[in-house]
Amino acid sequence: MDEQDRMTRVKALACSGCPNVHTHPRVVRGEDDVNARVMLIGQGPGAVEEETGRPFVGPAGLLLDRVLAEASLPRERLWVTNLIKCRAVKEEKGRLVDRAPLAAEIKACRPWLEGELEILRPRIVVCLGTPAAHALIDKKLKLSEEHGRFREGPEGVRLLAIFHPSYVLRLRSVDPNAHEQTRQALVDDLKKVTAALQQME
Ligand code: URA
Repeated sequence: MDEQDRMTRVKALACSGCPNVHTHPRVVRGEDDVNARVMLIGQGPGAVEEETGRPFVGPAGLLLDRVLAEASLPRERLWVTNLIKCRAVKEEKGRLVDRAPLAAEIKACRPWLEGELEILRPRIVVCLGTPAAHALIDKKLKLSEEHGRFREGPEGVRLLAIFHPSYVLRLRSVDPNAHEQTRQALVDDLKKVTAALQQME
């Protein structure tokens, strides 16, 4: 662990920006290639991520690994992170279930994400799901219409919104056709990232 890395950890431990840090104090930081040109930004850690301290290693992460492989995009060449770094939950029928982060939580956690963007300076930022797309691209963005369309961000960074793997997984039990279509859209959108990366090389 280098100095910068240690500093980020220490600061994250001291974070008191939102109540989640008291109820779910395990900070799930971004990971993989610090030289990545592509940063993937999800919503927030789930139960498995919280347990392991690693992003996208639960059911959504397994699907993400599969679609990345189908798009020939090696995860070890990416930086994978989340909008918020602690798990956000709600109670439902006596169980704790994951929920979308609140605007206040996203705001409180934003400095950590800004830190990652500043340190890594990715050329392509891929937002997984609506919360990340709204926070980083456009708060009116409609994923169903705009997924897979590159937009120009500051300093020439290319921004892309794609479906969140958790959404694709949820569709499996409610609408198998929509599940297949959305899964394929996810692969196709990621292939655009692969092609854009190849053009940079
Ligand atoms: N796991 C993550 O790390 N992020 C998500 O957004 C969902 C699952």
